[in-house]
Amino acid sequence: MGAQPTFVIVGAGLAGAKAAESLRTEGFKGRILLFGEEPERPYERPALSKSFLQGLSERAKIYVHSRQWYADHDIELHTSTRVAAIDRPGRQVQLAGGERITYDKLLLATGASPRELPDAGSHSVYYLRRIEDCLQLRFAFTTARRVAIIGGGWIGLEVAAAARAANVEVVLLERGEVPLLRLLGRDTADVFARLHRAHGVDLRTGAHLRHIITNADGRATGVQLDDGSRVEADLVVVGVGALPNISLAEEAGLLVDNGVKVDEHLRTSDPDIFAAGDVANAFHPMLGRHIRIEHWFNALSQPAVAARSMMGLEASYDEVPYFYSDQYQLGMEYSGHVGPGGYDQVIFRGDKDALEFVVFWLKDHKVLAGMNVNIWDVTEAIKDLVRSGLKVDGAKLADAAIPLPDVLADAAGNNGRH
Ligand code: FAD
Ligand code: NAP
Repeated sequence: MGAQPTFVIVGAGLAGAKAAESLRTEGFKGRILLFGEEPERPYERPALSKSFLQGLSERAKIYVHSRQWYADHDIELHTSTRVAAIDRPGRQVQLAGGERITYDKLLLATGASPRELPDAGSHSVYYLRRIEDCLQLRFAFTTARRVAIIGGGWIGLEVAAAARAANVEVVLLERGEVPLLRLLGRDTADVFARLHRAHGVDLRTGAHLRHIITNADGRATGVQLDDGSRVEADLVVVGVGALPNISLAEEAGLLVDNGVKVDEHLRTSDPDIFAAGDVANAFHPMLGRHIRIEHWFNALSQPAVAARSMMGLEASYDEVPYFYSDQYQLGMEYSGHVGPGGYDQVIFRGDKDALEFVVFWLKDHKVLAGMNVNIWDVTEAIKDLVRSGLKVDGAKLADAAIPLPDVLADAAGNNGRH
């Protein structure tokens, strides 16, 4: 590497911006070029399905850094600029306009894009990923009487809550038995279903879409379901998952498997190329396997590790996975990770009916994940329990009078025998 190495970051979302920031914090003195396809400087997406969609927060609040910050930190931010290809032998990226830039190290922070339904190209079918999607939907809520939402995942549920706040009728179509069932299990998933129904959402489960109904102008006017029923609506929102933006990596011959595959240092199969955020399928030492996480905290905190690795410094990404959601009066945080059927016990602590509780998923008496609902400042304690890998006393875990650190201390004192 020469005296002035050039680091290129592809993708100016949260992960890209945080990587640029970390490089400077770690003392990197070379050039940093940050390329983003969107016209906006890097911003955070969570408010797009919550406060910003509801018109409750300001646009200025969603940006990761001020415009001036990039100049002050000598970060060459190029918005509305798509990186079209990576030439690995030449160590160059090629921009959509044809220009080529030589890199010493490259970070892929290209994120994810909404999975599209095959026949959902008409007007008034909305996907929600970018700020302009949010502004269009917010405007549509001002005149719509009813929205049909396809998919009972995080987008579907949060948009349903925002629509109800805007006094729009909601028909939420979930193909499973209940939204979030695979992630949360029946008892906890039912909490969300009850909450939405209590707020007037017409939640239809086992609902399989046949097609979106459009009128002669190409406007969506509702949806047709497999069981023959129709839902009339002024607009249709689709939230059926996201797909990692892997085409650059794939075409460059990097190892790709459910995202760009990286080790715990966030290094790809090419030692000069790294990946972080939604696009990275990273080896997680605590879990002992690769995992791709499509949540804010991961995009916020992985880049510091990627930056150090790019600089040749020691770093591994081993954070306990974390995400949050807000819907109506329910605020929650989820820490840990457990796949469907990966647990053998669910323990509640607190008052589920009053929506003030913590729920834990355990296997062999060890806490794999915990979710706090309207109870705050317990995330670190939950993460400590998960990280410890100790067997805990279930009765103590369920007892809200015993602080969680004491449950952990008890487990440690018993050497995890319970
Ligand atoms: P992205 O945010 O996808 O950014 C990647 C950027 O790279 C994009 O701007 C893209 O245009 C650009 N790009 C891609 N390819 C190229 C290329 N070839 N050249 C140039 N630029 C390129 N998570 C939570 O934990 N809690 C929440 O409440 C929450 N709410 C959310 C609400 C919404 C509406 C959405 C969409 C997501 C939400 N998330 C939430 C998830 C969270 O926002 C993502 O995990 C996070 O945005 C990932 O950041 P990223 O930088 O990895 O990718
Ligand atoms: P998601 O959370 O993965 O949920 C997708 C939902 O759509 C699931 O319920 C899924 O059902 C369903 N689905 C998938 N294919 C379908 C199809 N063909 N027809 C009908 N339903 C289908 O994804 P999302 O809600 O679209 O969110 C997009 C991205 O934004 C994700 O990365 C998400 O993590 C992120 N996001 C996060 C938050 C948060 O963390 N609070 C908030 C908003 C967005 P099955 O389970 O049956 O597959």
